[in-house]
Amino acid sequence: MSSEGIKRVVIAGGGTAGWMVAAILSKTIGKVLNIYLVESDEIGTVGVGEATIPPLVKYHQLCQISEPEFMAAVQATFKLGISFENWRDVNEDYIHSFGNTGTDHWSAGFQHIWLSGHQKGLAEDFGNYCLELRAAQENKFAHLPKNGLNYAFHIDATLYAQFLREFSEANGTVRIEGKIVEVKTDSESGFIKSLTLDSGQKIEGDLFIDCTGFRGLLIEQTLHAGYEDWSHWLPCDSAVAVQTESTGPAIPYTRSIAREAGWQWRIPLQHRVGNGMVYCSRYISDDNARETLLANIEGELLTEPRLIKFRPGQRLKQWSKNCVAIGLASGFLEPLESTSIHLIQRSAIRLMQMFPQGRIEQTDIDEFNQQARFEIETIRDFIILHYCVTNRQDTPFWRYCRNMEIPESLAHRIELFKRTGRVFRLANELFAENSWLQVMLGQGIVPEQYHPVVDVMDYEELDRFLKQIKTHVDTTVSQLPDHSAYVKEYCKAAT
Ligand SMILES: Cc1cc2nc3c(=O)[nH]c(=O)nc-3n(C[C@H](O)[C@H](O)[C@H](O)COP(=O)(O)OP(=O)(O)OC[C@H]3O[C@@H](n4cnc5c(N)ncnc54)[C@H](O)[C@@H]3O)c2cc1C
Repeated sequence: MSSEGIKRVVIAGGGTAGWMVAAILSKTIGKVLNIYLVESDEIGTVGVGEATIPPLVKYHQLCQISEPEFMAAVQATFKLGISFENWRDVNEDYIHSFGNTGTDHWSAGFQHIWLSGHQKGLAEDFGNYCLELRAAQENKFAHLPKNGLNYAFHIDATLYAQFLREFSEANGTVRIEGKIVEVKTDSESGFIKSLTLDSGQKIEGDLFIDCTGFRGLLIEQTLHAGYEDWSHWLPCDSAVAVQTESTGPAIPYTRSIAREAGWQWRIPLQHRVGNGMVYCSRYISDDNARETLLANIEGELLTEPRLIKFRPGQRLKQWSKNCVAIGLASGFLEPLESTSIHLIQRSAIRLMQMFPQGRIEQTDIDEFNQQARFEIETIRDFIILHYCVTNRQDTPFWRYCRNMEIPESLAHRIELFKRTGRVFRLANELFAENSWLQVMLGQGIVPEQYHPVVDVMDYEELDRFLKQIKTHVDTTVSQLPDHSAYVKEYCKAAT
């Protein structure tokens, strides 16, 4: 282990990952560090990644970034959840919203009460008891007191990196343009010593953050951290992305529309719509996927369709020696639940929390890697859930998904919910009970029983209880303004 203090932090890569790390480090610990970020205009960024989840609100608060300013700069809209269309079966839809549904009893979640009501013919759709979900359906949005409405953003990825670059540079990050052609390591410790650019410039550092995207120039090509492949559980390995003109007001949710061998996304921004298809190249060719996407978009094309290949999985070590991989360099889960930017945020915060004092300690490295592994594996299970629990049998892809082996951890959760209606959040995993519930019910699992405590309520009480929640949701939604009117008022971007 190096016994030197950490004074020079070198971030390799200036995509969303590189600049998110630079922003939070420079804002918090930047005064006592020298932070350099190297990026190559020639290589460019992946340029997608436009749907986010609610914890991003917190990241901006930690960085003291003004929300309306950020939203105007990146042409952002609000996001209340994701509409999953054709996933349970063709022409069947549900929304995974960011809200809580109904009111829980401490011993039993609201789903038990709802199941009882459903069996007695008293309950409406599960989603009708969720404020965020109903607001999404009605295209409404407003900030409510006490975080009364949970939300995230749709953002322009390129503008977001630019915005964070300005922010980071203003807080002292030094940007260096150039292509890294060599990574030098210490022959004894194996620690990275410096990066050499094509110009011949050498950048020395004490701690290196690998944000070079899928190639993992430092973590993999230099330190050979290894990669665990999850394509047997997540068979999609390709995407085609294209931007289109908006054809109407932006809706406050992402659309995820299942297709014959994958799914299509639609992400509405203030100035345009982001579209793409994630698919499995074993079941559909690149040309057919591109045609399917182009046949299912609205509005004039603003860009040429772009093909992206990926391998789902995780780096065996996200932190190795004096290098921490963040972003696509650390692994990749398809964007079905918009979790990649969140994982960048989590790694950046975790790095800050474990920032080496004098020297890099193996115990910190092990702790970091263990936490990162738990986090990504629980998200992985949640994403697999959407594929393996489906009634679709119409194409070979969906038949594969229905019948594939799944991780033991996920099989247990599904079985527990089927038999008992119970769902538990593991430690501080990202997706809480209500997310698991919305997706499990949405994908078509109907629990065989509900918790006996619900029977304490008689028929009239149960009816009253359900109606009360529904009335509260309906009244609140009816008072919310239209989403696009609110965006115009709160954070309209310059055209
Ligand atoms: C199809 C698709 C859709 C996605 N959708 C979402 C979504 O909706 N929501 C979400 O949260 N995430 C999404 N993601 C993930 C998201 O795009 C990424 O997490 C995010 O963009 C971060 O990328 P990155 O910065 O790690 O890598 P990149 O954007 O690839 O950036 C890599 C950087 O490294 C630099 N670099 C590489 N090699 C060198 C070199 N030799 N010398 C100098 N510089 C170098 C490049 O110039 C670039 O600046 C999606 C990903 C894909 C593939």
